Amino acid sequence: NSAAKAPPTPSPLRFSKFFQSNMRILITGGAGFIGSHLVDRLMENEKNEVIVADNYFTGSKDNLKKWIGHPRFELIRHDVTEPLLVEVDQIYHLACPASPIFYKYNPVKTIKTNVIGTLNMLGLAKRVGARILLTSTSEVYGDPLIHPQNESYWGNVNPIGVRSCYDEGKRVAETLMFDYHRQHGIEIRIARIFNTYGPRMNIDDGRVVSNFIAQAIRNEPLTVQAPGTQTRSFCYVSDMVDGLIRLMEGENTGPINIGNPGEFTMIELAETVKELINPEVKIISVENTPDDPRQRKPDITKAKELLGWEPKIKLRDGLPLMEEDFRQRLGVPRKN
Ligand code: NAD
Ligand code: UDP
Ligand code: UDP
Repeated sequence: NSAAKAPPTPSPLRFSKFFQSNMRILITGGAGFIGSHLVDRLMENEKNEVIVADNYFTGSKDNLKKWIGHPRFELIRHDVTEPLLVEVDQIYHLACPASPIFYKYNPVKTIKTNVIGTLNMLGLAKRVGARILLTSTSEVYGDPLIHPQNESYWGNVNPIGVRSCYDEGKRVAETLMFDYHRQHGIEIRIARIFNTYGPRMNIDDGRVVSNFIAQAIRNEPLTVQAPGTQTRSFCYVSDMVDGLIRLMEGENTGPINIGNPGEFTMIELAETVKELINPEVKIISVENTPDDPRQRKPDITKAKELLGWEPKIKLRDGLPLMEEDFRQRLGVPRKN
């Protein structure tokens, strides 16, 4: 019969299956810290074509310079709050400033990026049948009342505070992801990322690890924000990228915590940086910012069980790798 002979209509699912053999991957925010490391890892696979869309608010072309001009790589200056038309199989949606000083700089823009930006990427995923991964954050747990935080905890977030543009923005982004999944059958993945550090972090972005390392190298006092007993858990960027790729390739929607469960107070972190990088440096106490979460540590049982993932790099091993990169960028070689 004629129906049996008709050529197959290209399904919107899996664009490259019909038109080419490579996997086309869009990374929004790919010029940033985590995004550019993700690009490096994905570009190692010759079957991947990578498209980065970034507005360079906190990222830079420098982070991607080794790929510019590569035939499997494309860089687009684009703001995700505007619609984007590209044909891809997977979307890693990272675009959003991550550091408090940058996301508080223009809070209305931050919430637009989280809400309209995620809506646009979901609309794109729907049109082309792509799988989409959102980099959400441990900030969705706010100032958590349970410790460590697992994915079923709903969080303790101030809806009207100075951090809300970021944490409530990410919470709405997660809601949008699940509504597109339930309403339109979009394949989604949600990673709840805990504090991540490593080479290429913005030197002046005000985050604690980048601050302490830059201060230690410049021989300026390490500024511990009071009380200094607040905790964070720091994941090295290569472990993070590994977790994100496993989540994308796996079968579970998440949300899944990706982070390193090693927990440190800010005083302990300052002492470790001092010991490893500059034993002469002073540690001082300075005023804190509002709504600073008092403790944060991921429960990574789900990541272990569902993704076979756990971080490999301990803080003591990761800090020197970051020091190396910061010394090069600051032009301050090690003394001995
Ligand atoms: P980053 O600031 O280095 O990277 C974010 C990138 O997004 C930058 O290149 C920036 O220019 C781009 N961007 C921002 N707004 C945009 C917009 N409207 N349109 C297009 N591009 C835009 O931050 P990062 O540390 O690499 O974080 C990446 C993602 O991971 C973010 O979604 C962040 O919320 C999430 N995350 C990071 C951490 C962390 O510790 N670094 C923790 C939790 C979650
Ligand atoms: N969108 C986009 N790229 C696409 C398809 C959609 O940026 O390839 C945007 C579109 O502009 C819209 C959003 O994604 O603002 C949501 O799209 P959807 O089709 O889900 O909703 P609608 O357009 O019906 O509001
Ligand atoms: N912090 C600090 N000194 C600094 C910068 C930050 O003690 O120079 C503290 C801050 O008060 C917070 C923790 O370090 O308790 C982590 O802050 P960061 O901005 O790096 O990340 P986030 O608050 O988003 O986890």
